[in-house]
Amino acid sequence: MKRILITGAAGFLGSHLCDRFIKDGYHVIGMDNLITGNLKNIEHLFKLEQFEFYNHDISKFIHVPGQLDFILHFASPASPIDYLKIPIQTLKVGSLGVHNCLGLAKSKKARILIASTSEVYGDPEIHPQHEGYWGNVNPVGPRGVYDEAKRFQEAITMAYHNFHGLETRIARIFNTYGPRMRLNDGRVLPAFIGQAIRGEDLTVFGDGSQTRSFCYVDDLVEGIVRLLHSDCADPVNLGNPAEITIDQFAQEIIELTNTQQKVVYKGLPIDDPKQRRPDISKANKLLDWTPLIDRKEGLDRTYAYFLGLTKEELMATEHNDFDKYIIN
Ligand code: UDP
Repeated sequence: MKRILITGAAGFLGSHLCDRFIKDGYHVIGMDNLITGNLKNIEHLFKLEQFEFYNHDISKFIHVPGQLDFILHFASPASPIDYLKIPIQTLKVGSLGVHNCLGLAKSKKARILIASTSEVYGDPEIHPQHEGYWGNVNPVGPRGVYDEAKRFQEAITMAYHNFHGLETRIARIFNTYGPRMRLNDGRVLPAFIGQAIRGEDLTVFGDGSQTRSFCYVDDLVEGIVRLLHSDCADPVNLGNPAEITIDQFAQEIIELTNTQQKVVYKGLPIDDPKQRRPDISKANKLLDWTPLIDRKEGLDRTYAYFLGLTKEELMATEHNDFDKYIIN
């Protein structure tokens, strides 16, 4: 049985990856320090023999007994509100954490895939974004702690590949959504759905003309699996190119939830990218991968998940302090 370590296992993407690799017959070792992850996302796996979990901060030395065939490095805070609240941990997991993961991969002769991000392109000056674009990142802005950590992460991963001959893969993940997103992590989809369910107005930042392209989590997971098993060490974009303005997105959530609430406009957060859409021709060609689930279907499934949360979970708004990261 192949053994795979998944860091960030209790998070949104990490937990879906645990499910997928269990389903594919792997022994899965989940690791998370639960700063932003939630054990609820993986509690259904604890009864399985092929699953084990370590509550560990990967910024510190990682010890995993036995052989390892693969490592998926998905541990990191991943929303602008998280970066503001825990900037140092965000930098540490993307630098010290990835270094420890790479060292572990080297000692176990394991192949490692790291979760990078469209944030390496910053506020992009070209559209759509292809892998050859080097980005437009503000290193000292509020997003700098995430963006620069992820850029460093790509650099050190490539260095381990070139210098140590380590088998490495780099996934540049664009906005992804689905069940198990944290309701109050500040990301736009859980923010809008949470507001609609609680009977609050939907907060669009800026004039809502900024764009994003949302990928359903199952499509993303399929892309990760294919990339892991490919022979491509260069970064590969994974995302859904279906682009939408945030204003249109708010309207879609209003229709989805049938809410009577309206949209209210707030200031635009610092360095909020104006446009984002992945060029996925590389993934398409190398991995024969393309997203299959359209936004209507994906949003229906995601809304069903949020409706299944407890009343307390739905009403918890303590992380919804958007005003903290808005400038005007
Ligand atoms: N956004 C918004 N209202 C919210 C939360 C976010 O209009 O309540 C906007 C945000 O300013 C950004 C977009 O939605 O332009 C996506 O934000 P998110 O934090 O989900 O992801 P990212 O900016 O990292 O792509």
